[in-house]
Amino acid sequence: MLLNWNDPLTSIRQKKTEQGSPAVDVDRFSIMADNPPSPAPALGDAARDAMQHGVTGLEVVEFGAARISVDDKQMINCRADLNQLVPFKYKWAWQKYLDACANHWMPQEINMNADIALWKNPEGLTEDERTIIKRNLGFFASADSLVANNLVLAVYRHITNPECRQYLLRQAFEEALHTHAYQYCVESLGLDEAEVFNMYREVPSIHDKAAWAMRFTQSLGDPTFSTGTPAADQRLLRDLIAFYIVFEGIFFYVGFVQVLSMGRRNKMTGCAEQFQYILRDESMHMNFGIDVINQIKIENQHLWTADLRQEIIGIIRNAVELETRYAYDSMPRGVLGLNARMFEEYLQFIANRRCAQIGLAEQFPGATNPFPWMSEIMDLKKEKNFFETRVTEYQTGGSLSW
Ligand code: FE
Repeated sequence: MLLNWNDPLTSIRQKKTEQGSPAVDVDRFSIMADNPPSPAPALGDAARDAMQHGVTGLEVVEFGAARISVDDKQMINCRADLNQLVPFKYKWAWQKYLDACANHWMPQEINMNADIALWKNPEGLTEDERTIIKRNLGFFASADSLVANNLVLAVYRHITNPECRQYLLRQAFEEALHTHAYQYCVESLGLDEAEVFNMYREVPSIHDKAAWAMRFTQSLGDPTFSTGTPAADQRLLRDLIAFYIVFEGIFFYVGFVQVLSMGRRNKMTGCAEQFQYILRDESMHMNFGIDVINQIKIENQHLWTADLRQEIIGIIRNAVELETRYAYDSMPRGVLGLNARMFEEYLQFIANRRCAQIGLAEQFPGATNPFPWMSEIMDLKKEKNFFETRVTEYQTGGSLSW
């Protein structure tokens, strides 16, 4: 079903004339016609734009337009109304939205008392352990803001089906929760917040990852950018891969392993628990991104050219270098039974998995996983220990008070 770009008032008046007995209150529309609620939009331009690049959801609402069928829906460049969630076509996206909601948590629910005591005790942690906590709060504090901005200001507009948009809205909220969690750790430990939140502009290995990601989000966020040509659609695909596969799928993993390793040794268990819930959310973000990327490839097979595949491989290899540098910088000496060389191996192992997940050849043959316990942690179930450790309650539908 294609949207009709006629003036809606004209089409309603036509219906009345053609059908004899109007189904709508014509007088009300006559009044609207005499007193238009806002300046008339440039329908010609909007219509042309939608025909070329797909709809955005902001088109004029056409009264009496034909109903949507599942076959009208597309991942990108769709021309069917985006303001109707059903009928579902991408049931996996809806299921991920439901799963994400079922995983709801809040940073204040996690008890930080043990962390506060340990951090304030001069004998509590080594300098290397303190560096790990500070570096990772510094990286993630701005990284999740970058991801949220990328979703809201760059990606959302170009994904043209409402099931995926529903998940993107949930994901955007989760990114806000994650930034909240880092702020909550910084506040609980009494860290210098300016130092932590400026690390992405002051610590080279953190800056390099943020700056690397920024060019991909700028590309899609450019107001003059729109999809609808093979080159533009490839750019969207490349930039989705940069954020979902690299930023959330590679750049987060040294930090996750480092902080969760501390928790496994009974140190900074509150911070580790925050990171554990974040990791669970993030692995779902990445899996959603993989499904989106692969679905776009299925629907637009001409986009996945040898040149694009080669470009993506270069991007992933470059990301492994940047993240390895971050591992060496945040862990200059061995600590907690970990060392930077293990992270190099781990990143190659993860990069192989990421390549396979989007249909590319593995780039680091034989790389193995030095941290097999990470996969157990990612399978964390909400029931595991959440309700034993949380300290506050959020309002749910059953306990709303005004
Ligand atoms: Fe995320």
